[in-house]
Amino acid sequence: MVNLQIQSDLTCIRCGYNLRGLTFEITCPACGISGHYNAIALPNSYPEKDQILSALDRKPFERVAEGTAYPADALLFVRDLSNFLQGRVETPQEVRQLAGAQRICAEFRDFAIQSFPDKVEAIATLEAWNLRGSDDLKRVLIILDHAHLIRLSEKLEQANFSGLFATSTLFDGYEASFSDDFRDDLPSPPPIYVLRR
Ligand SMILES: [Zn+2]
Repeated sequence: MVNLQIQSDLTCIRCGYNLRGLTFEITCPACGISGHYNAIALPNSYPEKDQILSALDRKPFERVAEGTAYPADALLFVRDLSNFLQGRVETPQEVRQLAGAQRICAEFRDFAIQSFPDKVEAIATLEAWNLRGSDDLKRVLIILDHAHLIRLSEKLEQANFSGLFATSTLFDGYEASFSDDFRDDLPSPPPIYVLRR
């Protein structure tokens, strides 16, 4: 686990207050700016900058996951799926048009193919995260939307996901795609809001 405490002199990017001894999880006591902004502004030479940013990115998902049937990893996977979808369409209009339930389920399959080395590991991991089928995908999308971690279109909020896929059979016929697409060096995408109205 990365240490989020600020152990050396570091001035707030907005007001210049010395944040030494505080953590990146709290706001600046002098001006109130989020610690996340001060972390983003760190020089690339700062020790463990990437790990600090990734831990801060994860925190809200850990909080939201509490009290749901899904671990933070499941929520992050679906958030990253949203970013993946946004990267594959050209315009916001296209996002609105394509973001129906069928399309999201197909993107879920494609994103899993990119994210896991093979079918067995994909199914085992997704099921361990309680993402057992399209109904779980819909529930997680709604959880993330209510927590303001993504924004769903109205069309998608109302879409019927029932019975569109089961994770156990989702990759039948797609086994060959895994080895072509898998890259374990993919950087985690930046937190952006997708599927805007
Ligand atoms: Zn400040």
